[in-house]
Amino acid sequence: MKKNYLSYSILILSIVLLLVVFTLFSCKKVDPVRPAFTPYYVQHSPSISEQNNTTLLKSDPLVTDTQKESEDDQPVFCYAIYAPKLDLEEVEAQISSFIQQEIASAQLMYNEDAALNLDYTLDVFAHTLGQIKFFGFSCPLSNQKPGDHLIYKAFLYHASSGTVYSFGDIVQEDERETLYQGIDAVVSSQIQTEISSSALSDETLLYALHFTEQGLNFVFPANTFAENQSDELSVLLPYDSISSCISDLFYDLLADYLPARGRQIDPDKPMIALTFDDGPSKYTQFIADLAEQYGGRVTFCVVGNRIDQYRDTLIRVSDAGHEIANHTWEHKKLTSLSYEEAKTQLQKVDDKVYELTGKHLHFIRPTYGSVNDTLKQLSNDLKMPLANWAVDTEDWKSRNADAVYHACMSTVKDGDIVLFHDLYESTYHAIERLIPELTAKGYQLVTLSELVEYSGQSIQYGHIYRDVK
Ligand SMILES: [Zn+2]
Repeated sequence: MKKNYLSYSILILSIVLLLVVFTLFSCKKVDPVRPAFTPYYVQHSPSISEQNNTTLLKSDPLVTDTQKESEDDQPVFCYAIYAPKLDLEEVEAQISSFIQQEIASAQLMYNEDAALNLDYTLDVFAHTLGQIKFFGFSCPLSNQKPGDHLIYKAFLYHASSGTVYSFGDIVQEDERETLYQGIDAVVSSQIQTEISSSALSDETLLYALHFTEQGLNFVFPANTFAENQSDELSVLLPYDSISSCISDLFYDLLADYLPARGRQIDPDKPMIALTFDDGPSKYTQFIADLAEQYGGRVTFCVVGNRIDQYRDTLIRVSDAGHEIANHTWEHKKLTSLSYEEAKTQLQKVDDKVYELTGKHLHFIRPTYGSVNDTLKQLSNDLKMPLANWAVDTEDWKSRNADAVYHACMSTVKDGDIVLFHDLYESTYHAIERLIPELTAKGYQLVTLSELVEYSGQSIQYGHIYRDVK
């Protein structure tokens, strides 16, 4: 009821305004000397409630400045401009310069009596992002047809600091294409014409953009994309679908609406550590990518003398947050080596990985799962705990994706460490099924270090981890 009343009021007000404008226009026709527009420049201070309302009703001009009487033989130039007064220096300076430019270019455009009309809307999203949108037109007084020289201009700023942002500040530059694709898909289907929003200027995109709680809402004025686009076009891109396109700066500003960037592990939810021995190999990167796609990270227990061949892979997966664990330099059975020999086997891998990634290794994955007192002592001395497994998929033996899949799926439980080898294509195919399904079952895929850390247990050297329950 209240809404109806408001709509009704707006309707009445619009009619009154139209009548006023019409009367002024009519006057012009009667008396060609008098301008159609009452020339004034109004600075308007929006109230807080107005700042949160995109449609402003500006009823009380604070400052009225009338253009000087023109000489009789000079063309009259009239302007009716509304601009907000916000007490934010940077925004106001930019707005003022924009208005001066528009006045100057409109005056240059016409050799006869002419007018410039500018109005604006203002809203503040989430108490942080202010958006001012100017719209208007200039025209000769002899032919007052809005539409020939339309003006659209937006200012986006920080509501407290007044810092002004460009469209480029909002988007992650290398992810722009994703944003364009999102817009193109919706617009193309609405107007039945293939369009390419990448052809639009940043100014146009900024003007169209509205921040909403649901996502970025682009409202493109008529004719933005095609002559036959007679109506506004609205495209809502939900935050979830474009979170990767948002710059770090705006990710912080819009934090309440975006999924947390980076991985969040919930210690109260089930988790498992998938571990891959004997690599790196040509499958390592694929497994890492797949895990990342599902928000997980895994552990690669590498053999040192393979690292040079897969140097880039090792660096990439480590940078992406997967863990590298120590599976000896030459895959020697540690329990048949002396303390010093075993130490050298482990130390060499740690040195190599540290040289490439800047990270030391936290876990020893004993070759063949064999552990003796010497190795426990070494684990203590090197401060690297031992990690075996609760689930052995025996993928090296079966080399069968189905068998590997079932070996894992039938026994795995919360807190388990699962053993695979990233040397086999069959293992990769099993993983292609396992990662989505385990994730769907609610398991968080974590690294060995994360598994121990989030179990709440303190790390124990010399201890053989198989699970954390
Ligand atoms: Zn091995």
